[in-house]
Amino acid sequence: MIIVMRRGATDAEIDQVTDAVKAVGFEIHLSRGVERTIVGAIGGDRGLLERLHLESLPGVEKVAPISKPYKLASRDFHPEDTVVQIGDHAVGGNDLWVGAGPCSVEGRELLLESARLVRTGGAHALRAGAFKPRTSPYSFQGMGEEGLKILAEAREVTGLPVVTEVMDTRDVELVDAYADVLQIGTRNMQNFNLLREVGRSRRAVLLKRGMTATIEEWLMSAEYIMSEGNHNVILCERGIRTYETATRNTLDLSAVVVAKQLTHLPVVVDPSHGVGKRAWVVAMARAAVAAGADGILVEVHQRPDQAMSDAAQTIGPEAFSQMMREISAIAEVLGRRVPISSTSHV
Ligand code: PEP
Ligand code: MN
Repeated sequence: MIIVMRRGATDAEIDQVTDAVKAVGFEIHLSRGVERTIVGAIGGDRGLLERLHLESLPGVEKVAPISKPYKLASRDFHPEDTVVQIGDHAVGGNDLWVGAGPCSVEGRELLLESARLVRTGGAHALRAGAFKPRTSPYSFQGMGEEGLKILAEAREVTGLPVVTEVMDTRDVELVDAYADVLQIGTRNMQNFNLLREVGRSRRAVLLKRGMTATIEEWLMSAEYIMSEGNHNVILCERGIRTYETATRNTLDLSAVVVAKQLTHLPVVVDPSHGVGKRAWVVAMARAAVAAGADGILVEVHQRPDQAMSDAAQTIGPEAFSQMMREISAIAEVLGRRVPISSTSHV
């Protein structure tokens, strides 16, 4: 249930409501907006709550059930956009955010070269996997902890925050010690134990949409993370499985529009995994920004053909510069902007 307080309701009135709701066994999540405060009551017996007749308490405007199965992630509960801070930049506000880098950490020199490249190109964060979820057990599986150390060094050298995937509950603590953003990959979107574990961390979590997940299932996964107390969740559309085989996945840009309406969480788009082919990546990044995405996560490499994983969909330095120029122009039309990276002077 949500209890919407009147504009200008006093702290004493809000306290009276929260005390009453807690007393019948509910957990409280307060959302203090510029306009009004919303008290979210989660987890208890609805009958008990109804018997309190909260609508008759001073300062209460209305009491309404949250009809969606996800609560904390829902816009009913938190009407204003959530802004997730990553280093000096934010995701989900007016500014767009760009995370860029190779699919995987391939070695110290190579990653440092990639990091400098994406910094020069204007990225706000460096992406690269140290733990790789490969379809074949015989493919390169990533560098593991050594890769995390290299990522930390790249952050040190370039100032770029680091986005990297965590695949296993047993590695959350380790990855958390090195990363600025914990990425949950498409194959793990419904690994509920992993979601709970990253929910206990206070790091930002980038939650990729499962390749066969509905938008509602994706938001339920965000709810798992948030229900453990971590509200720093960024959603990432990365393409879903359809009958189409020309593209690696079908990049569902309508999901951006729908998710932005249903949830207050930021939504970014990964055009690389979305299409699977280098030549189509920049166009889909442009389309994603036009659709209202809050940012782009893109695979970039200094010599894309030589990338150890996902080479076919990895773009090179020129295409990355082109992408940055073009999404900036589109952002401007929409009254948004791609801010100059705080690391560009380093
Ligand atoms: C990746 O970002 O390199 C990756 C493995 O992504 P996904 O989980 O979307 O396939
Ligand atoms: Mn990849």
